[in-house]
Amino acid sequence: MDRLIDGWGREIRSLRVSVTDKCNFRCRYCMPAEGLEWLERDELLTFEEIARLVRVLAAMGVDEIRLTGGEPLVRRDLPVLVRLLAETPGVNDLSLTTNGVLLDRLAEPLVEAGLRRLNVSLDSLSHVRFAEITRRDALDRVLAGLEEAERYPELRPIKVNCVAMRGFTEVEVPALAELARRKPYVVRFIEFMPLDADESWRGDDVLSGAEIRALIEERWPLEEIPAKASSTARRFRFADGAGEIGFINPVSEPFCSSCDRIRLTADGQLRTCLFSRKEWDLKTPLREGASEEELERLLRFAIAHKELKHKINEPGFVRASRSMSQIGG
Ligand code: SAM
Ligand code: SF4
Repeated sequence: MDRLIDGWGREIRSLRVSVTDKCNFRCRYCMPAEGLEWLERDELLTFEEIARLVRVLAAMGVDEIRLTGGEPLVRRDLPVLVRLLAETPGVNDLSLTTNGVLLDRLAEPLVEAGLRRLNVSLDSLSHVRFAEITRRDALDRVLAGLEEAERYPELRPIKVNCVAMRGFTEVEVPALAELARRKPYVVRFIEFMPLDADESWRGDDVLSGAEIRALIEERWPLEEIPAKASSTARRFRFADGAGEIGFINPVSEPFCSSCDRIRLTADGQLRTCLFSRKEWDLKTPLREGASEEELERLLRFAIAHKELKHKINEPGFVRASRSMSQIGG
């Protein structure tokens, strides 16, 4: 079958699937403290509906699937979906992004179901500051979740993601860099993007990857590791050989020209960019009995219209139509 190519010649290989808009944290850079309305249960795609769309996309060359949310581990029976997707022909890389708070219980069933890669979000190793940023006192549970994940050698690499915010993250950098040296975790810093529900983002709040790298190199020199062209992260090893650090710099070094990603929201809308203002409804055709060919045609049409790039750094930038937890980061 023909590969999926967008209107700018980029091949689409990667799908982020949001399985819920709900979350047990309220991270400041993502959700409001309260007041976000949840989707109704029947608005969520079922596991079978998600698996059907993944089958259609995998036949067109989408071989990398990442589950996300909201917090994906609050979706009941998630390992059932992981198994369905792990068994889908063409899916070579199945991963999960989580805040880690339920991982101590779920790592084992997820690995048994076929999960092979894991990203855990962690912004601070201080209890007080962790609670300040997530609005939940749950650092110990996240660390316990990471320890539990470490017990499964199948789950590698384990990536730890930290959103880099000026005025907050600078003091966290040494401890997070040490974590990358001490543990089998790749610690990655992601520049803060204007996807917070509170809409408080300002350009000055972005702590760039280059600034964090300079902070780390005051103590530990880094060496760049060549990465895949479609990779969102620049990878570095510590020059003395202990551990790996990554930088995801969507604001200071946009990587849109090599973007191979699309996103499926929990309510079955296809988004061709994190910053899309338009969504493509897949749930209605799925529920109205669309054939594989009809779904394929709809997907190809939507992807032909994928945005060239985000416009965060341009005058008149307009925010996305939903915030991060509702899209699926
Ligand atoms: N709840 C899970 C978690 O936190 O890992 C999965 C969903 S979360 C929306 C996915 C990723 O998006 C997390 O690594 C989170 O830190 C990141 N994120 C959320 N809001 C962001 C923002 N405004 N800018 C950059 N990254 C953000
Ligand atoms: Fe929840 Fe993840 Fe958003 Fe934090 S970043 S509020 S854990 S969805």
